[in-house]
Amino acid sequence: MAERVGIGIDLGGTSVKYALVTQSGKILKEGIRPSYAQSEVRIILENLASAAEEMKSFAERKGLSAEVVGIGTPGNVNIETGILMGSTPNFSAWRDVPISEEMQKLTGLPVFADNDGNLMALAEAKLGAGKGCKNLICITVGTGIGGGIILNGSLYRGSAYAGAELGHAVIDTEGIRCNCGSTGCLEMYASATAMIRRFSAYCRRDKIKQESRTPDAAYLFDLYKKGNTQAKQAIDESIYFLGRGLASFINIFNPEMIIVGGGVAEAGDLFLNGLRKITYQYAMEKPSENVRIEQALLGNRAGFLGAMTFAFGEMDKTVVPV
Ligand SMILES: [Zn+2]
Repeated sequence: MAERVGIGIDLGGTSVKYALVTQSGKILKEGIRPSYAQSEVRIILENLASAAEEMKSFAERKGLSAEVVGIGTPGNVNIETGILMGSTPNFSAWRDVPISEEMQKLTGLPVFADNDGNLMALAEAKLGAGKGCKNLICITVGTGIGGGIILNGSLYRGSAYAGAELGHAVIDTEGIRCNCGSTGCLEMYASATAMIRRFSAYCRRDKIKQESRTPDAAYLFDLYKKGNTQAKQAIDESIYFLGRGLASFINIFNPEMIIVGGGVAEAGDLFLNGLRKITYQYAMEKPSENVRIEQALLGNRAGFLGAMTFAFGEMDKTVVPV
């Protein structure tokens, strides 16, 4: 019997990444298209439905039948109703959208939606770096810092689907003001954005002319390897702040593993070795005894893989045994 297949969709601020995936995580076909984040809700939904349609017809051509659609979106999602609660940064009209209901109408398939950070964590836990772990923390370090928490093999979402905001753990009470309304959040110190901001400040301080007008994390790591002082300082500080954050998560959750993903983690051991050192130095002895700190394995495919995994899980819960 052919393996079951589903469609995973990852809606991001810039692009939509999507794929036809087998239930065990094999990608049969994938696609990417703009997300139209500044457009009205109808346009965004129709774009998602057309992505699903593309995968559905590919499946049919292969003699397969896509059973379910999973969607990851920024923002908080009530997973029982599939409704996005409130708004999300980087989108103008995408708020309070009944995603599952609307997408079900457009695709004719069962649709399940959840927060994108949660779904990435789920993908890494079930199909990626965390395979076999029951308790783990997944942290994504990019423009901001997002995350997901897996406890006893399931996602922990909080009492109102709004938890796991790991980037908003406070590491400096008198610190930099954050978009969330608080001050001194981890995200303001250890995200790629923060790293680049510090690098630019150090270049100005040392009267060094920056060669790139739009430096990104990869560019900074390149400079770091060449021994650039300002890049080294900016990266070392990010590692320090992130390590202090991870040490707190270890003390609270005592996980088996912390998975680090996002653009910054792509630097691999150059970043992770320093991060491990700081994290173990500051975490309490007992909770950090068995914890491993590993790089995420699924890259930007984690979103749609997690969406597919989640959707199959939810669909199978609702099937009434005969
Ligand atoms: Zn914050």
